[in-house]
Amino acid sequence: MRIILLGAPGSGKGTQGQRLMARLNIPQISTGDLLRAAVAEDTALGRKAKVAMDAGQLVADEVVIGMIDERLTQSDAGDGFILDGFPRTQPQAVALDELLRRLGQPLDRVVNLEVGGEEIVKRLLARGRSDDSETTIRERLEVYTAHTKPLLDYYRERGLLAIVPGVGDMDAIFERVMTAIGPAPSRYHVLPA
Ligand code: AMP
Repeated sequence: MRIILLGAPGSGKGTQGQRLMARLNIPQISTGDLLRAAVAEDTALGRKAKVAMDAGQLVADEVVIGMIDERLTQSDAGDGFILDGFPRTQPQAVALDELLRRLGQPLDRVVNLEVGGEEIVKRLLARGRSDDSETTIRERLEVYTAHTKPLLDYYRERGLLAIVPGVGDMDAIFERVMTAIGPAPSRYHVLPA
């Protein structure tokens, strides 16, 4: 299965992505995690990305597209993957389409975790990650509305979008996500719950 998890920061993409990874036995690929690893390793890319991340802004499209290109061509992504936090802009979505066409691996589903604005701010403040200050939270939500939210239409037009309410019990949300994804094609090995 090739799945994208969409949603505002704090909508639960990371949590649900982890659970999907365990259930479907395919890697969860998070550009946020890849970028944080580059920052921790203090690479040239990491140092540049950190400035944007600390400000709640997006890292340049070509940087994250390059990371995804490299990651999706690794062998463990050959049977499918869960993208969490990518794409975040229209150029990223277009680049992903081109990459997947090249690999002959079309997307199966795009799941949007829907969570209201007030709940998002509450969750992000509670999370306490280093880029979760009140100012950066506001900036990230604006960036999300301006650049990422329009991707809902992009994938709706392609018939790939499923909207899942992302509030309430985590297990219940996960079951909604599984229902939205639909039964896995038989060639995939699905682990029991
Ligand atoms: P996340 O862990 O997904 O919330 O990402 C943390 C930060 O990494 C974001 O606020 C951005 O600065 C950066 N980032 C992650 N994914 C992307 C992406 N697809 N495009 C641009 N910047 C990204």
